[in-house]
Amino acid sequence: MENNDKLLKGNLVSAYLTENVKKDAELLRDKGIIPKLAMVRVGNNDDDMAYERAAINRCMKCGIETEVINLDSSITEKEYIEEIQKLNKDDFVHGILCFRPLPKHLCEEVIEQYIDSRKDVDCFSPINIGKLMYGDEDAFPPCTPKAVVEILDYYGIDLVGKKVAVIGRSLVVGKPLSLLLLNRDATVTICHSKTENIKDITKSSDIIISCVGRAKFIDSTYFNDKAIVLDVGINFDEDGKLCGDVDTEDVMAKISLITPVPGGVGTVTTSVLASHVIKACKNITQAKI
Ligand code: NAP
Repeated sequence: MENNDKLLKGNLVSAYLTENVKKDAELLRDKGIIPKLAMVRVGNNDDDMAYERAAINRCMKCGIETEVINLDSSITEKEYIEEIQKLNKDDFVHGILCFRPLPKHLCEEVIEQYIDSRKDVDCFSPINIGKLMYGDEDAFPPCTPKAVVEILDYYGIDLVGKKVAVIGRSLVVGKPLSLLLLNRDATVTICHSKTENIKDITKSSDIIISCVGRAKFIDSTYFNDKAIVLDVGINFDEDGKLCGDVDTEDVMAKISLITPVPGGVGTVTTSVLASHVIKACKNITQAKI
């Protein structure tokens, strides 16, 4: 098999999702409803701004309006909450994305209580986290874990009964991803920095998903030769080049399928975000399309 045939390319998944979102956005617009996403950013963090640009581009392609609320780094918790409450009340806003992590003086555990869970398109509200736990289809899972599942679905990779190792247990990626996979009847093992003998777990898994955040941390000794690998990591190597957690060059000959970095999971995330805005818009407006 050529190396290129082993790539689970994100752009195909993203194009497929975008096409569906676009159709729904057109149907909503025909009814006089303009789907809209508001993004709340504190300060001018480079990563936030890069994601914001990608989200604006994607929403534009889909027919979704966007608004950026850029708050000064000195904003108080009370002022931040007031901004969220304004957006909650705004009938023209259907999705709210709060860039996180927030600066240390803003307590996420307090602020997350205030976002309207119906508009919470990236799973900030504990209500959405709870719904995810229950396997409730109404939930808005965080966009990155959902993007992983969208890739698996697009490529027809069945999850039922499959052994899946998730490396990483953060609240934004590893944990919610594990729940999504469990809700799809996978047998999930969650690994983290204290896990012993990770290789024993990954080698006996059908699907391995790395969400660690360490450049080229995982090599071919982690996998069996049927392994399907999804690399969520976004890192920079010693030459300053964007790379994932997996040493792609080293593993390519061994594994069965892999998402590239760049061009893999990250490419799909904003399409998932756009699809969540449409879902929120349909729910809130009760539009039958
Ligand atoms: P994080 O909060 O730093 O979590 C990293 C996880 O990796 C933790 O659970 C940690 O375990 C685990 N870990 C660290 N060292 C390990 C080791 N040696 N062995 C096993 N597990 C280890 O990071 P995150 O926010 O989840 O993000 C993870 C990666 O995904 C980052 O590269 C980030 O840039 C990327 N990301 C990508 C997208 C996308 O759209 N593609 C979106 C968001 C994030 P402990 O819990 O024990 O510390």
